[in-house]
Amino acid sequence: MSPALAGLAYLIAAVCFIVALKALSSPKRARLGNAVGAVGALIAVAVVFAVERPDNLWLILAALGVGAAIGVFAAQKVAMTAMPQMVAIFNGLGGAAGAIVALLELGGATQATPIGQLAVAGFTILVGAVAFSGSMIAYARLQELLTGRPLIFPGMRWLFSGLLAAALVTGAWIPFGAPFWVALALTAASVVIGVLFVLPVGGADVPIVIALLNAFSGITVAAGGYVLGNSLLIVAGTLVGASGILLTQLMAKAMGRPLLNILFGAFAGGSTLGATTVSARPVRSAAPEDIAIQLGFARRVIIAPGYGLAVAQAQHALRDLADELQKRGVEVLYAIHPVAGRMPGHMNVLLAEADIPYRALKEMDEINPEFRTTDVALVVGANDVVNPAARTESGSPIYGMPILAADEAQAVVFLKRSMRPGFAGIENELLHDPKTTLLFGDAKDSLRKLAAAVKAL
Ligand code: NDP
Repeated sequence: MSPALAGLAYLIAAVCFIVALKALSSPKRARLGNAVGAVGALIAVAVVFAVERPDNLWLILAALGVGAAIGVFAAQKVAMTAMPQMVAIFNGLGGAAGAIVALLELGGATQATPIGQLAVAGFTILVGAVAFSGSMIAYARLQELLTGRPLIFPGMRWLFSGLLAAALVTGAWIPFGAPFWVALALTAASVVIGVLFVLPVGGADVPIVIALLNAFSGITVAAGGYVLGNSLLIVAGTLVGASGILLTQLMAKAMGRPLLNILFGAFAGGSTLGATTVSARPVRSAAPEDIAIQLGFARRVIIAPGYGLAVAQAQHALRDLADELQKRGVEVLYAIHPVAGRMPGHMNVLLAEADIPYRALKEMDEINPEFRTTDVALVVGANDVVNPAARTESGSPIYGMPILAADEAQAVVFLKRSMRPGFAGIENELLHDPKTTLLFGDAKDSLRKLAAAVKAL
């Protein structure tokens, strides 16, 4: 393949990536976006084989086959609630791959290697290794292999700062003919920095760190593209880096917390996760038949879905209940909080799966004024996103996070299994409000009983 043709193919792949990103931002076109992105990636890989004619072709093809098989298997098997963990692993491996490529390039560097290329290789090792080890710790946190509480030990801040300084010094030495062991030392220091970077972050904030590490892996790929002289890697890495940074900012904003507070809050002595307490105070619970009357005779019901809906995979049961209510002339709307669930857009994806019309899903700012004139707020497996402590308790880990104004509805119904708190680990005063009723049980089971009871009214 001629260099001009390869350049054209790379351009087409880059356009595919940009079109894919654009389409992914709309639920209607997300599937198409995914497919366009995959075509771009396929073109990119095919062009590398056509241009480079690599040695060890069969070994490379075998590695590709094994990687693709693992990827397909993992993507098909992963539960929706475990998606952030999978993203963490993929980010980490991307970072590791970039760091290894940069190490190999440094190993083969000669006197003639341009100084800029050596400098960027050092940078790639630093960011890539941090992305790798940080993502592995984030994965262990989300998979509950490690505690969700911030992990700090005496002197951690100094160890982190010292290692970062050492990494910057060794990184700055690399372009000036440092021996290869310096690159290896930089790799080791960067791996430890990644671990120390993520350990102090509280469990509720880990998904934000994953978005940031995603940006790091993109930056690693872009820098690796410069080292290898591959323009498509630069474009793809920059897209991932930029979108990762934007996503990080959006998530921090949705949680009402400055990013620096999320990342270094525990270093500064503050905890980013509340104590996990189970309240023993009395609450009012009712049978499905009683709640069905409340719902069936309402004029308007706003459903606030959360993480528990995803755990119970109750989206279809929710749709059935909404259908029954609508048959009786009840207006049903869905209040979508930007960080409900465990990943951005979690609720939109879940409800779209049950063919709930997109126009019925209302963003938080749009729906909040409507709660005041709503008969029942039906909170399905959500907790933190309707917790009024976010408005009133300045010491609370969710203080400042904008919430759904479910407490302003005439009545509130919670569907949950127990009195256990949500992800932030704090009590929800709304559960004890006189206008609140609880229906205990798995969300899918409760929704089925409610749908049957509304039908029987
Ligand atoms: P929460 O984690 O606050 O609450 C989930 C609720 O669901 C709990 O009360 C739990 O109670 C209940 N639940 C769990 N399983 C079931 C089940 N099978 N059936 C019925 N109920 C169930 O979820 P929210 O969606 O309200 O809040 C999301 C949290 O995640 C926030 O703290 C947010 O900051 C955080 N987060 C979200 C991110 C995102 O991008 N979406 C990113 C980062 C953090 P019980 O166990 O008693 O059933």
